[in-house]
Amino acid sequence: MRKPFVAGNWKMHGSKAMIGSLISALRAGAEQIKGVDVAVCPPSLYIQFAGDMLLESQIKVGAQNVASVAGQGALTGEVSVDMVQDLGCQYVIVGHSERRSIFDETDEVVAAKVGVVLEAGLTPILCVGETLEQREAGVTQDVVAGQIGVVLQKLGVSAFNNIVIAYEPVWAIGTGKVATPEQAQSVHAFIRSLIANEDSKIASNLIIQYGGSVKPENAAILFSQPDIDGGLIGGASLDAGDFLAICKAAGEACSE
Ligand code: PEP
Repeated sequence: MRKPFVAGNWKMHGSKAMIGSLISALRAGAEQIKGVDVAVCPPSLYIQFAGDMLLESQIKVGAQNVASVAGQGALTGEVSVDMVQDLGCQYVIVGHSERRSIFDETDEVVAAKVGVVLEAGLTPILCVGETLEQREAGVTQDVVAGQIGVVLQKLGVSAFNNIVIAYEPVWAIGTGKVATPEQAQSVHAFIRSLIANEDSKIASNLIIQYGGSVKPENAAILFSQPDIDGGLIGGASLDAGDFLAICKAAGEACSE
């Protein structure tokens, strides 16, 4: 049985004051976190600060992005996986649609990032998903298969022992337009089948999060779908009450 995983993507939000009160509230409500793994992904500059505040809590820390090469080097403005690991991160979000569309990250760059994250012993949260135009053109499966296919080709199916996939329809991110449970389940099942074509055991253990306007009101129904194993949460992760309610819904839905 898969343990659900909920991660908060804080994007470019936060200050010491805001993060201080958010984490204090998360820690105060931590009894709601049962039967679910939880992480928060602050902006890189605040990883240390957030990590220190989360010491000895069950909430882990992740990064939102890393460079596609590891170690150190002449790459002004970049942050390497070794650096976020040094600060205590266990997860790295890779290939978020904002990175793909705004920062022109190709499937190849995303696959390289997944590779460096795995090599460092951290868990990539590999984001995939279609735009509205692609959904309307009926090519959702082709898009998702292509995004995952490059990683499969470059790293092999065994890499998926240590990868979390986040299915995030681009049209649902930050828009308030959530995929219906049926729409999400259908793509999640397709993603699992893609991996099962290569290795059924790896596929049945694979954590596939849903992301895109998850809120306390829609979390339970989404997480009760058989192939949805928690969520990647943007906006609602900035509100401790909402994020804890979503974590609680994941723990309850997946224990049924
Ligand atoms: C995200 O940014 O990964 C996300 C899912 O955002 P939101 O929950 O705000 O739609």
